[in-house]
Amino acid sequence: MKAIVSLNAGSSSIKFALYRLVDDALTFDAGGKIEEIGSRPRLKARNADGEIILERDWPADSAISHAHLLEDLFGWAATQLGDRQIVAIGHRIVHGGVRFAAPRIVDDALLGALETLIPLAPLHQPHNLAAVRALRALAPDLPQIACFDTAFHHDLPALATRLPLPRSFHEEGVRRYGFHGLSYEHIARRLRDIDPLYAGGRVIAAHLGNGASLCAMNGGASVDTTMGFTALDGLMMGTRTGALDPGVILYLQTHQGMSVAEVETLLYKQSGLLGVSGVSSDMRTLHASAAPEAGEAIDLFVRQAARQAASLIPSLGGLDGLVFTAGIGENDPVIRARICDCLAWTGLMLDPDANRRNDPLISTPGSKVAVRVIPTDEEAVIAGHVMTLLKPDGRPDGWIAS
Ligand code: AMP
Repeated sequence: MKAIVSLNAGSSSIKFALYRLVDDALTFDAGGKIEEIGSRPRLKARNADGEIILERDWPADSAISHAHLLEDLFGWAATQLGDRQIVAIGHRIVHGGVRFAAPRIVDDALLGALETLIPLAPLHQPHNLAAVRALRALAPDLPQIACFDTAFHHDLPALATRLPLPRSFHEEGVRRYGFHGLSYEHIARRLRDIDPLYAGGRVIAAHLGNGASLCAMNGGASVDTTMGFTALDGLMMGTRTGALDPGVILYLQTHQGMSVAEVETLLYKQSGLLGVSGVSSDMRTLHASAAPEAGEAIDLFVRQAARQAASLIPSLGGLDGLVFTAGIGENDPVIRARICDCLAWTGLMLDPDANRRNDPLISTPGSKVAVRVIPTDEEAVIAGHVMTLLKPDGRPDGWIAS
């Protein structure tokens, strides 16, 4: 029996999922996450019933590499496969640039091209590509498929891709791309299943996790989004600033003598919820904290999210729906209620009980904006793309062993 693996390798975590492929249908078999890579890596995997099937800790060692962890993970997977045979691995690749939108089989040329995009996604792209390289070394016969987070936004209206810089920059690729596309693709698909009428309308999807962004969808297509040239733009995030007056960066470099590398670390790793609170980048920890700075970080997160959601409405010409997804969006009724409160002027009315229960529909019947909670599933989107590339012989079209 054929099986497909989806991998989402980030800087401090690797998410994975294993799917069975039978008659062009995918069934989730197992999945999980290795967390805290770089400090004290630990792994938890669950089967389709949600039962824990593997828990593992590695020693606290910042030197344990992604490659080492992937080798361990695939060693374990090999003992679990039974009659299943992995026929391909799909990867989340954050940046496909202007050239790459459709999922593609990884070869040396593609890897080289994707490496040139590292400066545009320094926090993610190196880890995405390191996982591809590690698995090519481990299993050179196994095809690997790159699925791009920028792809869902590939056909953004031209105006939504433009930055207010001289035109020559745009031609060189300094333009808005948009991210979290695999997540938004899942939301658009789920909306079509749940409520086709709503899916055809004007919807803002809010992916609120460690990384956070908003996507304005009209008829299921991205027409605007808050992340732009890099995944640093837009909403305030766990450790990233989100949109920031560019004058701040000039000031830090000119008058505080900060190097480019220091500014990069500040913007990507030391800011956002972590920087403002001084407590944590994790929303649950902030809710539990009595420190006033933690409360202020939450207030700013809510304000930025509501403000930027409102800023997307002109791109849609109105608002029919709002969808919350990802760690905070799916699980945090307090944040959802506070963002919805700021958007009450749109005619949005939240049902507090449904919101508290994390129900799929959390607005009242009379609300002018239907508000939904839809769990994201980037791994399933990746596996779906891999499946569509597979030929009847189980090898993706155009695949040559590395
Ligand atoms: P993600 O990047 O999608 O895994 O989301 C991570 C964020 O979701 C962190 O800030 C977590 O604190 C937050 N999160 C996860 N579960 C909950 C929950 N039950 N309540 C509030 N926040 C949560």
